[in-house]
Amino acid sequence: MSPIKGLAVHAAGAELLPFHYDPGNLGAYEVEIAITHCGICHSDLHLISNDWGISQYPFIPGHEIIGTVQAVGSAVRSLAIGQRVGLGWQSNSCGHCEWCVKGQENLCLSSEATCVHRHGGFADRVRANSRFVIPIPDPLPSEQTAPLLCAGITVYNPLRINGINPSSRVGVVGIGGLGHLAIQFARVFGAEVTAFSTSPAKEKEARSLGAQHFVNSLESKAVKEMAGALDFILTTVNADQDWGAYLQCLRPTGTLWFVGVPPSPVSVQGFPLVSGLRTIGGSPVGSPSRIREMLDVAARHGVKATTETFLMAKANEAIEKVKKGKVRYRAVLANQF
Ligand code: NAP
Ligand code: ZN
Repeated sequence: MSPIKGLAVHAAGAELLPFHYDPGNLGAYEVEIAITHCGICHSDLHLISNDWGISQYPFIPGHEIIGTVQAVGSAVRSLAIGQRVGLGWQSNSCGHCEWCVKGQENLCLSSEATCVHRHGGFADRVRANSRFVIPIPDPLPSEQTAPLLCAGITVYNPLRINGINPSSRVGVVGIGGLGHLAIQFARVFGAEVTAFSTSPAKEKEARSLGAQHFVNSLESKAVKEMAGALDFILTTVNADQDWGAYLQCLRPTGTLWFVGVPPSPVSVQGFPLVSGLRTIGGSPVGSPSRIREMLDVAARHGVKATTETFLMAKANEAIEKVKKGKVRYRAVLANQF
């Protein structure tokens, strides 16, 4: 096997540099993907700067991958060479624990992430266990679909878990890579959607993605005016917020759900939880079967990421733009073939 060539970060917060590694022999259950596209998720930025204390350097980031199957291990029957496939945050799980057996592999305690202690998708190729390599439905364009492999499933899964339907009033906090897909999926489920954003310039786009209402979350009065208006709030922001104010936006039985991870502990008063049967929850990505379902829904209902494409070699430029919050709404790296 020839070396895999990519762009790696060698120290916390450092620029990406050309890097190659020998992937060794292909495992019996592994698949090797020739990468065409890879999205830049904000989690890549957290990993690059070691915000979560789990990064091991050098490593190649990237976990919103689309490409074609280049090689399959001797035991792989489900995928064929040349097939278009995707790979998201998770690249393996134990396969036999309670959660894996139930089809909730994303909750497996031995879960392996595509670019944590492994090399990810800012590269020409990547490997993963075949169970996590998902066929891409034909109608979906690669560039606008790569972000669905992490951002898309991360917002789709909680909408499904929480039974969002046409009677639901849904708030989406933070209209970035995750948030702009959450608006679209919540609309597919028939919900009435309110976007909460610190960027008034995003109002027009948020509405064109399907949000019926837009609240400037920097204006505490505007947030307060939403008191008791929503059934479900999905927060995608990675910054501390006035969570008590969002809890007040919920109707009785409502839920505040985290997919973005704020740096500080989430502190709220107990009274609104107890008096209104409200709950707080959170979730990590979704299982392989849920990813397949999400891609099928995206194909049939026209859900697409709004993307800005950069050549793989320009990954540092793309990352700087993501850091500044200037990308609408997902940067995608493309390999030239
Ligand atoms: P992103 O594209 O950078 O979007 C984040 C959005 O949050 C921004 O566009 C902005 O939206 C808002 N925001 C940023 N800074 C803010 C601040 N200081 N106060 C209030 N709002 C702020 O990031 P992303 O890729 O969507 O990822 C979002 C978070 O989800 C990251 O922390 C990431 O690690 C996490 N994540 C979790 C999972 C999971 O499995 N749970 C999976 C993927 C990602 P506005 O301009 O509209 O305010
Ligand atoms: Zn991600």
